[in-house]
Amino acid sequence: MPWARVQGYIPFIYLEGGLLYGDIRLHDVVIVGAGPAGLTAAMYCARGGKKTLVLGNIYSSQQSMGGLYENYPGFPEGVQGIELSERMLAQAQKFGAENQIDQVEKIVPLRDSFRLKTENWQYEAKAVILAMGASHSVIGVPGEKELMARGVSYCVHCDGALFRGKAVAVVGYGNGAARAVLYLANIADKVHLLSMREKLVAEPVYLDRIKKLSNYTASFGAEITEILGDQFVSSVEYKVGNTPRSLKADGVFVEMGMKPNTDLAAALGLEMTSGGYVKVNRFNQETNMPGVFAAGDLTGGRLQVATAVGTGASAGISALQYLG
Ligand SMILES: Cc1cc2nc3c(=O)[nH]c(=O)nc-3n(C[C@H](O)[C@H](O)[C@H](O)COP(=O)(O)OP(=O)(O)OC[C@H]3O[C@@H](n4cnc5c(N)ncnc54)[C@H](O)[C@@H]3O)c2cc1C
Repeated sequence: MPWARVQGYIPFIYLEGGLLYGDIRLHDVVIVGAGPAGLTAAMYCARGGKKTLVLGNIYSSQQSMGGLYENYPGFPEGVQGIELSERMLAQAQKFGAENQIDQVEKIVPLRDSFRLKTENWQYEAKAVILAMGASHSVIGVPGEKELMARGVSYCVHCDGALFRGKAVAVVGYGNGAARAVLYLANIADKVHLLSMREKLVAEPVYLDRIKKLSNYTASFGAEITEILGDQFVSSVEYKVGNTPRSLKADGVFVEMGMKPNTDLAAALGLEMTSGGYVKVNRFNQETNMPGVFAAGDLTGGRLQVATAVGTGASAGISALQYLG
């Protein structure tokens, strides 16, 4: 079927790859994900002179939800994740990158390009960089879903302030849980850690700070069984061994780690690692599909902002080389 390409715009509707298209927006590179990996890749591609689009919301990235980053170079006093996201987007936009707050639902490979379908629009790109990051793992107990946003939260920096002077539980056992405890201890009256493991496995710097808290208690070897509440959370039920226990709490912060957002990549047919991440050539962030690159937490390794920025830069440079 003939195409009419008028200033980056295809004005008529047709069917291809199982998708109905009309009003398709054309770009050299479309980047899926507006975290540090995607925004860095966008900065490189736009600065390299390519028509670049980032699909995704900077405020729903882990980077924006992470609070204060003390280990990102260049900020001796630390930097708030939201500020870092806004600055990275501004820098990419300065070189001409565009950003649409749109969730990509499907990617279809064509002969020498890719179609990306979102709820509202369809896009076409010669190269695609995947940087969808990771999402919070859930506990998976009754009451968790029902009381979400009514006391159950996955983001202390978003919701912590709502629990001033109240009692909160943190569910988890790693760095995320440790940071949540430290953050909430400044706001809440009482912070109780419910850890499935026998100890908190976190960086020594966090463990030292936690030792000094006066409003912190913990239960180890705890298996959460239910979160109770009528309108809002009122208690957490759990077991230690076979002994059932109950903890009164106004809020429950779930810090059970993250899982990579690989659905789009899997549907596209990309090869995965045995750990469930998108498999890339570590030298240039190429996936097994020509024209598709991946970066950041989606590709595993050290899940940090600094590494997401590094792999994002590498993916951006590779996309530029691919496009010539
Ligand atoms: C609470 C917390 C504390 C942390 N603390 C630190 C720390 O101290 N130091 C450190 O270095 N790292 C820390 N991290 C980890 C760090 O934030 C991540 O490693 C980093 O943000 C990963 O970047 P990313 O670009 O791969 O993904 P993310 O930052 O997760 O961004 C992913 C982006 O993809 C978008 N997206 C997902 N699916 C789609 C889709 N289908 N369509 C469009 N967009 C999509 C999301 O909306 C988001 O914009 C922390 C993370 C958390 C959650």
